[in-house]
Amino acid sequence: MVIDTPGLREIQLWTESDALDQSFEDILKIQKLCEYRNCSHHGEPGCAVKEALDSGFLEQGRFLNYEKLIKETEHWESKNRIHLKQKRKQFNKQQTKKMRRMIQGKYGSGEF
Ligand SMILES: [Zn+2]
Repeated sequence: MVIDTPGLREIQLWTESDALDQSFEDILKIQKLCEYRNCSHHGEPGCAVKEALDSGFLEQGRFLNYEKLIKETEHWESKNRIHLKQKRKQFNKQQTKKMRRMIQGKYGSGEF
């Protein structure tokens, strides 16, 4: 498979944000239970993530990885939002599947 190098990093990043939803599905579900919608999960009252961490239901290391990835993705997306949408349209579906497998391998989606 040949990928044009100028767009490669962009494609990887938006695919990562896509893979994020799948790899950290449990965390995404937990944080919906937080009392505050914009909860940062750092000591707010009624934080479901903190509860999950305290009870051992959610592994601390996994949550830290998740936070890190969110920050990277959000930072990048806010700078490239419009450009990103165009890329999504252009990008071939088969390539997406291939990328996703690569990324899931990298972040280990099979551990829960
Ligand atoms: Zn929270």
